[in-house]
Amino acid sequence: MNKIAVIGGGPAGIFAALAAAEGKARITVFDGNSILGVKLAITGGGRANITNTRDADDFIRAFHEKKNFIKKSFFAFDNNKLISYLRTAGIATISDTEGRMMPDSLSSVDLRDRLVSMLKKKGIDIKTCTAVKGICKDEEGFKISTDIETLQYNRVILATGGRSWPSTGSSGYGYRLAQELGHSVKDPVPALTGLNSGEIGYAGLSGISLERCRLRFNVKGKDKFVEGGLLFTHTGISGPAVLDISRFVARDLVLKKETAVFVDLLPGMKEKDLEKYFFMTRKKNLKQAVSGILPGKIAAYILERSKTNDNLRVADAGKKRITALYNRIKSFKVNVDSTGGWEKAMVSSGGVETGEINPVTMESRIISGLYFAGEIIDIDGPTGGYNIQAACSTGFAAGKAAAVKKPLR
Ligand SMILES: Cc1cc2nc3c(=O)[nH]c(=O)nc-3n(C[C@H](O)[C@H](O)[C@H](O)COP(=O)(O)OP(=O)(O)OC[C@H]3O[C@@H](n4cnc5c(N)ncnc54)[C@H](O)[C@@H]3O)c2cc1C
Repeated sequence: MNKIAVIGGGPAGIFAALAAAEGKARITVFDGNSILGVKLAITGGGRANITNTRDADDFIRAFHEKKNFIKKSFFAFDNNKLISYLRTAGIATISDTEGRMMPDSLSSVDLRDRLVSMLKKKGIDIKTCTAVKGICKDEEGFKISTDIETLQYNRVILATGGRSWPSTGSSGYGYRLAQELGHSVKDPVPALTGLNSGEIGYAGLSGISLERCRLRFNVKGKDKFVEGGLLFTHTGISGPAVLDISRFVARDLVLKKETAVFVDLLPGMKEKDLEKYFFMTRKKNLKQAVSGILPGKIAAYILERSKTNDNLRVADAGKKRITALYNRIKSFKVNVDSTGGWEKAMVSSGGVETGEINPVTMESRIISGLYFAGEIIDIDGPTGGYNIQAACSTGFAAGKAAAVKKPLR
């Protein structure tokens, strides 16, 4: 029987342990916190958006350049399988109008508690307040050291998470454990976080939200577009669309001191529609006209930024001014000086190099008997349940494979 150490009791570690328990293995979950799943318990605004109803292609595509890596573990334990696994365990789920899926208790704490009960029922040993400080490979397997003891296992699943929201226990220490075992780590950057922009932060727009915007930004010389909600904050911009592009912006900021995002504030209005609108409002002044299609404070800010007298009648503004206004509305520039940082990042973009991990079993290609699961791996998806699903899919694959009795390479 394999003796498996699961390092980290987030969704990846929990699902790795549950899957390993389906094979005949002795499993211990280590976590530095006094309770498992501290991050899971704050997800989805306290409601745990654990997955979504998207089809497999959409799901896989959401993982950017890592779609081929995630594919295999996702197919083996996809959103439907996760939902039916939970249902069998007595945890019903519901979806909202956007297809986001949550436990029907709408409580991430309740979900975490039920998962921990499942681990206990399956006889899985849980060592809380026990941070793993070192992992040493030897002929019999692995020596796991904590502050108080050194224990022997023949399989290890590293599921320590990344560096995001470190107050939940994911300090980035897992990267060090992986590196000490010979793995490469792609430098992680904070992702799914807001973007700071001094000028926007001071513009008095904080609290204004736009239901639908189109964001444009440049990745390696190519324009990329993301659509979704946007929120102005006291430090810059946030909201679903901004969170989803933050991984790219954060990487750009590593290379430059400043970068820019361009926001189409009215993606539903084409140039012709705007021209028509300004013709219809030609008797109004510019402030009244722009406030008719955008929140008043944004209208005032745009007019101030284009140094246009807002009392000027639209009819008297001239084509040049109207075109300039059009450009500011359709391509509102936000200079970004930093991201929300690790403290406010929901995930880490970067991590253990996927080329060094078998995508079917999650086993290390460098060290036999070592497996990876969840955010510690260089995979990150957008908001909407993708990241918990990825943690569960990779965790399930790792746990299942780690329980199989076979000689180590
Ligand atoms: C505020 C917030 C909201 C979110 N909402 C959603 C959402 O609604 N939907 C979604 O899909 N994703 C969401 N996410 C992202 C999601 O929570 C993570 O992607 C997911 O938790 C990653 O799972 P994991 O098990 O890999 O890592 P984690 O959940 O970070 O768990 C890692 C665990 O390892 C432990 N650990 C670390 N180092 C050691 C060590 N050396 N020894 C022992 N234990 C260790 C930590 O204490 C921690 O408990 C959210 C994240 C945040 C911060």
